[in-house]
Amino acid sequence: MKLLDAKVLLLGAGGLGSPAALYLAAAGVGTLGIIDMDVVDSSNLQRQILHNMDRIGDRKVDSAKKTLTAMNPDVNVVTYDTRLGADNILSIIDGYDVIVDGTDNFPTRYLVNDAALLKNIPVVHGSIFRFEGQVTVFSPYVGPCYRCMIPEPVSYTHLTVIRRAERTAVGYAIENSLVVHYLNRLSDLAWTMARWAEGPMHRPARVR
Ligand SMILES: [Zn+2]
Repeated sequence: MKLLDAKVLLLGAGGLGSPAALYLAAAGVGTLGIIDMDVVDSSNLQRQILHNMDRIGDRKVDSAKKTLTAMNPDVNVVTYDTRLGADNILSIIDGYDVIVDGTDNFPTRYLVNDAALLKNIPVVHGSIFRFEGQVTVFSPYVGPCYRCMIPEPVSYTHLTVIRRAERTAVGYAIENSLVVHYLNRLSDLAWTMARWAEGPMHRPARVR
């Protein structure tokens, strides 16, 4: 698959969405969809690198589009200034080749998982726990889904640790390379199956 024909949907233009969007635009992914309903805030610019001081108070999706099209005018940036919910997710994700899930809460992750299964869209999932990152691709009906891996939400204490660790950027870079790699191989079912055959079905890739 040609990267320029690819459509990738990013959930959020914040700590994960920022580096993901920048690298994917630089790599030449043709269409980048971005969902976010927040405004640019000065307190988290150190990791939300799509935005800057001049844009404080602006809609994050507008700021993201400005930065990305300035870097690569060939990228078609589609913005969704809305909260992802059960009422809109199916229409939003429709037509995308890959979803990059960097969401930070379990209800949204389960929602994304279920909708992606319905629409048969692979999800690249990334999360970080202390100094370890976890990156995996959920390919519908080829490997396990997010509910297979985490059937029950993890405790609140665990969650707050994950949120604190989100500032670590290393996992994001790896997640990006996984998206590009996956897009290049999207039509190659054998590749996907070989990935899952590499280890036990429920063991995601680990990075340190
Ligand atoms: Zn499952």
